[in-house]
Amino acid sequence: MSKKKSHKNSKERVLQKQAEERSRRMKNLIVGTLIGLLFIVGIVALVQSFSGDRNAGEQGVDEEIFDYDQQPVAGDPDAPVKIVEFGDFKCPSCKKFEEEIYPQLKKDFIDNEKIGFYFVNNQFLGPDSITAGIAGEAVYEQDPDAFWKFYDSIYKNQGLESEAWATPDFLADLAKKDVPGIDHKKLKKDIENETYSEEVQADKGIAEKAGVTSVPTLFINGKKVPGEKTFDYDYLKQRIEEELNRKK
Ligand code: CA
Repeated sequence: MSKKKSHKNSKERVLQKQAEERSRRMKNLIVGTLIGLLFIVGIVALVQSFSGDRNAGEQGVDEEIFDYDQQPVAGDPDAPVKIVEFGDFKCPSCKKFEEEIYPQLKKDFIDNEKIGFYFVNNQFLGPDSITAGIAGEAVYEQDPDAFWKFYDSIYKNQGLESEAWATPDFLADLAKKDVPGIDHKKLKKDIENETYSEEVQADKGIAEKAGVTSVPTLFINGKKVPGEKTFDYDYLKQRIEEELNRKK
């Protein structure tokens, strides 16, 4: 009887050991799966931190994407501080920027050639917004400096965002009035024939690469200015002075 009991006990021990082994394996499997998942989540987060909008944050974007040589510039193109404005001639906030912030930048940093201020199209407010962008590129092609007269004029004469006012006739007449010294007949043809639509599209591609989601958006030496700071001139001035000191 005792022999039988002892046999039974040893069988129970074997079964218990097997159950313990199964439970240990299950625990290992769960822990292994969790570690695997955490590893995947970590990799995804790492990849995201090197791409997209975060790329445009503190680390900044690779300035090569701006194609500086192909863009209108006010001030000194070789200045140690380069500002890029992404804008749309139909956007009311861009008009506000041109009227309130740009004149201060011009006075403090552009006219004395401390910075180069670049404009890149991000025209997206309807088909006539593209037409306005093409007109800007056409003026720039004829005379790079004349572009800034066009820039001032189109914002000062901006129509409603909801209306298609930037027609070839309107734009050509505007240039006749405010942008002297260029071939106005050629300009009108270039607007009507959409001669520089590729340039406008190329600029839009740059905006996408830079993670621009609204206009106006500024970059100072490749570092994106937070949207809420675009109209904070004291902030912009401080950031520019920091960059000027850093590059000394
Ligand atoms: Ca351009």
